[in-house]
Amino acid sequence: MNEMEEIEIVIVGGGICGLATALALHRKGIKSVVLEKSETLRATGAGITIRANGWCALHQLGVASNLRLTSLTVQGGKNISVASGKQQERPFEKGEIRCLRRSELIKGLAENLPPGTIHLGCQVLSITLDPLSSHSIIQLQNGRTIKAKVLIGCDGANSVVADFLGLKPVKFLSLSQVRGFTKYPSGHDFKNEIVQVIGGRSKIGRIPIDNKLVYWFATLKMNPKDVVAKDPELLQQMTLESIKGFPTKMLDMVKHSDRDSLSISRMKYQAPWDILLGSFRKGTVTVAGDAMHIMGPFLGQGGSVALEDAIILARCLAQKRHEIDIKTNGSQVIACKVGEALDQYVKERRMRLVQLSTQTYLTGILIKNPPLLVRFVCNILMKVLFSDSTAHSQYDCGCL
Ligand SMILES: Cc1cc2nc3c(=O)[nH]c(=O)nc-3n(C[C@H](O)[C@H](O)[C@H](O)COP(=O)(O)OP(=O)(O)OC[C@H]3O[C@@H](n4cnc5c(N)ncnc54)[C@H](O)[C@@H]3O)c2cc1C
Repeated sequence: MNEMEEIEIVIVGGGICGLATALALHRKGIKSVVLEKSETLRATGAGITIRANGWCALHQLGVASNLRLTSLTVQGGKNISVASGKQQERPFEKGEIRCLRRSELIKGLAENLPPGTIHLGCQVLSITLDPLSSHSIIQLQNGRTIKAKVLIGCDGANSVVADFLGLKPVKFLSLSQVRGFTKYPSGHDFKNEIVQVIGGRSKIGRIPIDNKLVYWFATLKMNPKDVVAKDPELLQQMTLESIKGFPTKMLDMVKHSDRDSLSISRMKYQAPWDILLGSFRKGTVTVAGDAMHIMGPFLGQGGSVALEDAIILARCLAQKRHEIDIKTNGSQVIACKVGEALDQYVKERRMRLVQLSTQTYLTGILIKNPPLLVRFVCNILMKVLFSDSTAHSQYDCGCL
């Protein structure tokens, strides 16, 4: 039988949230270990838009300036209707927006972590609580067993940690998004803006990353059983099929896309009431990022909000650190202090997340073109609750 390893703080998942949380803790002088199931750090989804609130968090992590060098600032946006040909300026939020290569963001976070922090090929299978010490016992697929004083689940949509906490499973929309990059070796002539073309059952958007690279995302109204294609050639064909009759520049962009960058994902979300009522802490275990609050991509906020989580969680743990003397405190005292820190984190996050998930939820309903009455009610709610529809980007997570 394998011996049980003991680790102070374990983070499950080496995506944006897991790496940012490890880095935030490191900046506060706290060691952690990230367990990632894949053999490499993956960055599926090509690009990611980071909004002003995400940039505040990246600044706190000390990685914003380097990342800025890799992408242009987005300076506006418009929607174009295929049916009428009409162009409409999109409400544009104040503050910095840039679209990054996901791989750059992951690399920027990972390379600032101390060597040995990230453990690849470590899939967490199950978690139990040791009733005596309140520590978590983590069972990995590779046979390792780890005992952790603190466990943070940043393991995304199908989170083992969220499951352990008893959180409600994620829900699915009958929408999918294909995402990819198109390279323009001699440069493109697009403005630095988000352009979305909307027609029939589909929608496609593009954002320049730099003068030669454009990120695009196509929303397709598809039923779960239709989403089978993972083959890049099929994804490309499927996207072209769904945007037939769209402007030539959009069609050419998809035709000439970098096939290796293409991916598709079903849109998932956590209902606002599940976030309002969810129990995000058990003992010394909590969740962050998509594991806590997955939301449809309509506001382009999932990644930025995961970065906020990282800062606030690390700050709460660091604030309690002086009360936790590992040498003299018994394990129950440590567990109690960590529990207080995690409760503070959940308290600080909850209403922010309820607001965001409500706005995303209502946007998701409206996108599906519902019956008139539902549309009317959703529009009223949006106006009353979110009179400034871009205010979500103005949130500042504060100092680490
Ligand atoms: C179509 C689409 C477009 C989006 N666009 C944007 C955007 O423009 N801007 C934005 O801010 N957000 C966007 N998002 C949301 C954003 O991608 C997510 O919110 C963000 O990636 C969440 O990061 P995370 O680290 O919490 O989860 P993930 O990125 O899912 O990372 C979870 C990690 O945990 C690992 N893992 C899972 N289970 C285990 C296990 N049992 N053991 C060990 N490791 C495990 C996974 O391999 C993965 O590396 C979009 C999402 C979608 C679907």
